[in-house]
Amino acid sequence: MISDVFCKIIKGELKSDAVYKDDDFLVIKDINPQAPVHLLIIPVKHHFSLEDFMEEGNLELLGKALIIAHKVAHQVGIAEKGYRLIMNEGEYGGKLVPHLHFHLLGGKRLGPKIVK
Ligand code: 5GP
Repeated sequence: MISDVFCKIIKGELKSDAVYKDDDFLVIKDINPQAPVHLLIIPVKHHFSLEDFMEEGNLELLGKALIIAHKVAHQVGIAEKGYRLIMNEGEYGGKLVPHLHFHLLGGKRLGPKIVK
């Protein structure tokens, strides 16, 4: 059975600072924040990657992840000034935790853009 660090957090085996939770997603504060607000939007059900997620036809859940990002951005007060929503995938994307997740960052003017 797969048990990465996010699975352990979801199961309550590891502590986290949660800001949102429902049956499909958990949103927690990143342990090593790269901005004043750095949250991780994590699907409760384990999926290694977006590839994996899409193969199971989770289109609605993918939409829900964006809805939650929007909702939480308002909840934590970063919606007005702006934020970034990022997903790192695979070796070249630099993904470290093998459980699909999205980073929501804000609370300051963010660093250099990769996409100009
Ligand atoms: P990735 O590079 O895989 O997209 O990002 C993984 C993120 O998970 C990193 O920003 C890292 O700081 C965060 N992270 C890793 N382990 C833990 C943990 O145990 N708790 C929390 N809250 N965040 C973690």
